[in-house]
Amino acid sequence: MTAPLLEVENLTRHFAVRRGLFGRGGTVRAVDGLNFTVQAGETLALVGESGCGKSTTGRLVLRLLEPTEGTVRFAGRDLLHLSSSEMRALRREMQIVFQDPYASLNPRMTVGDTLSEPLALHGLASSTGRRARVAELLSLVGLRPEHSRRYPHEFSGGQRQRIGIARALAVEPKLIVCDEPVSALDVSIQAQVVNLLQDLQKRFGLSYIFIAHDLAVVKHIADRVAVMYLGKIVEIGEKKALFARPRHPYTQALLSAIPIPDPALQRRGPVLEGDVPSPMAPPPGCRFHTRCPYARERCRVEEPLAVDDGDGHRTACHFWREIEPPQRLGDQSAANPNLARLQAYFNQPVT
Ligand code: SF4
Repeated sequence: MTAPLLEVENLTRHFAVRRGLFGRGGTVRAVDGLNFTVQAGETLALVGESGCGKSTTGRLVLRLLEPTEGTVRFAGRDLLHLSSSEMRALRREMQIVFQDPYASLNPRMTVGDTLSEPLALHGLASSTGRRARVAELLSLVGLRPEHSRRYPHEFSGGQRQRIGIARALAVEPKLIVCDEPVSALDVSIQAQVVNLLQDLQKRFGLSYIFIAHDLAVVKHIADRVAVMYLGKIVEIGEKKALFARPRHPYTQALLSAIPIPDPALQRRGPVLEGDVPSPMAPPPGCRFHTRCPYARERCRVEEPLAVDDGDGHRTACHFWREIEPPQRLGDQSAANPNLARLQAYFNQPVT
């Protein structure tokens, strides 16, 4: 296997919170010891409920935030030991697409100026060549060259996200962090943007870190999935294996919550109850024990290690091997047509 494009080890970010009006201060453990890799041309999805640390992780990988601890290696280079000028040069290869394309575009700049700016900044095209490159970028994302004269408010949400993608592509990156890129869009537009990202990936060999809370979107685009809970990765593995046989009770609960567009289908699996505990005071032992239907005494005192089963599928749960098969969809699919149809649903291509 070739060396990964991105290697993240023990990535940690804690935020100090000052004592406020109500006397509470402390440390928010937003990201707490993450380990993962991303191969060239691969999409790794980071999923989990809001506040689990997935967006912070995306920013740490790009060094838009400085980690408290850990290592981030990109193409073999340790990002945290690069000088600011070396980091500036490397930024070209690592881009981000934001959730809210309207907020991330300057309302006073035309689309042409927005796309020309990174080209000028990185010296990628002469002033005469920029117009042609802008037209090319617009057509790559399904817009027309004449759109370069318009302002962001003249576009729909989906078109604005296409502009955000074009801006990321302008500098010919290798890795793009897509931070909830479709969650602000209508469902019909979401599929178009996901398809566009997949087409561009095939064409340019891009790697994506795709951050999402919606597993239904992730199933279409991810190669591997990392499930985060309260700043930790609780399960990471190939998408197909993880969707077919979710091991961690939290992954099972997230999958159970995906709406199935077929009234004949009934999901089985644990249901998530209660709120996510505060990252300022994460529960001891397994952080998920306050919501886990399978929690036992050991879970309250001993933190489960992420154990790799040898095929790169890691699970951080003391008892995942003992959890009853009905929660693991694959085990009964042959005998249970309902489960077989659910699996078929998760394997269908995006339309
Ligand atoms: Fe549930 Fe215990 Fe596994 Fe945590 S370690 S997910 S509490 S069974």
